[in-house]
Amino acid sequence: MKKEDCIFCRIANGEIPSETIYEDKDFRIILDVGPATKGHALILPKEHAADLFELPEETASRALIVAKRMAQNMKERLLCDGINLVQNNGVAAGQTVSHFHIHIIPRYQEDGQRINWVPGKCTQEELEATRKQIMG
Ligand code: 5GP
Ligand code: ZN
Repeated sequence: MKKEDCIFCRIANGEIPSETIYEDKDFRIILDVGPATKGHALILPKEHAADLFELPEETASRALIVAKRMAQNMKERLLCDGINLVQNNGVAAGQTVSHFHIHIIPRYQEDGQRINWVPGKCTQEELEATRKQIMG
């Protein structure tokens, strides 16, 4: 379902114009207005889901197929040297728009962007404890 006050619902469903680079019955891919690099795009499902937790598995599965095809297309047409897929969930993870989206970020040698984290340190015991916590 569409959410009236959600900007990405309105963009995905064509109520607000966007630079669309792909559309089918379930998804629209648009260029990000604040591109990290040339071609930075967002895959938007047309059905509202706030984040990965709310996203139906079927949509999640199809979103990755759409991402793969667009990545291939960008590699050929933009001649980028790499691609980052980025997907943020929750404010703590950097999500600023509460409608599930996948960033497709073409990367170019020496493009000066950073999509990185600082590697931490932990003991084998800590890894083991985390593994048990996740696996239950
Ligand atoms: P997030 O931080 O939630 O993962 O990413 C939100 C992204 O949406 C940002 O990269 C931002 O530039 C982009 N964005 C926000 N509002 C709009 C908009 O109205 N149109 C487009 N095309 N991109 C938007
Ligand atoms: Zn929405």
